[in-house]
Amino acid sequence: MEKVFNLEVLTPERPFFEGEAVSLTVTTTDGQFTFLAGHAPIVMPVVVGSIVIKTPEGQTIEAFNSEGFLELGHELTSVYLQACERPEDIDRLRAEEAKRRAEERLRQRQSMSEYTQNKMALARAMARLSVSAKYRRR
Ligand code: ATP
Repeated sequence: MEKVFNLEVLTPERPFFEGEAVSLTVTTTDGQFTFLAGHAPIVMPVVVGSIVIKTPEGQTIEAFNSEGFLELGHELTSVYLQACERPEDIDRLRAEEAKRRAEERLRQRQSMSEYTQNKMALARAMARLSVSAKYRRR
C-alpha cells in the first residue's frame, strides 16, 4: 500500500482540500517539488502556479494556486493559499480581462510597488489561463 499523509489546503474563503494524500506537488521559490509521506518538517513559500494532489483512491486533483506557504509537519501538512481554484471553476473571461488589465498597466509609468503588484496580477491571470486550458483539452 502507498504511504499517505494528512493534507489540508486552505484559502481565506474555504478549505480547498482536507484528507489523505499520496503526494503533493507545488511550486516554491526554489522550484517545483513533489512531497511524499515521511518528508522532514519544513516551511516554504509557495508561488503562483498549479498544485497537484494525488489521493489514495487514485484521483489526481490539479488546481490553480495563488501565493501562499506550505507547512509540512509530522502529523499534518498544511498549504495556505490566497486563492485556489479547480480548472472547471476558473472564469476564463475574467482571467483574460485581468491579464489585459495588468499588461496595460505594466506599459505605463509606475512605482516599484505598483510594478510588483501588476506583475503578480499578470502571473495569476496567466497561471489561471494555463490551468484552465489543460482541463479543456481533456
Ligand atoms: P481579478 O482582478 O479578476 O479579481 P485577481 O487575480 O486579482 O483577479 P485574486 O485576488 O487572486 O483575483 O482572487 C480574488 C477572488 O476571486 C478569489 O476568491 C479567487 O478564487 C477569485 N477569482 C479571481 N479570478 C478568478 C477567475 N478567473 N476565475 C474564478 N475565480 C477567480
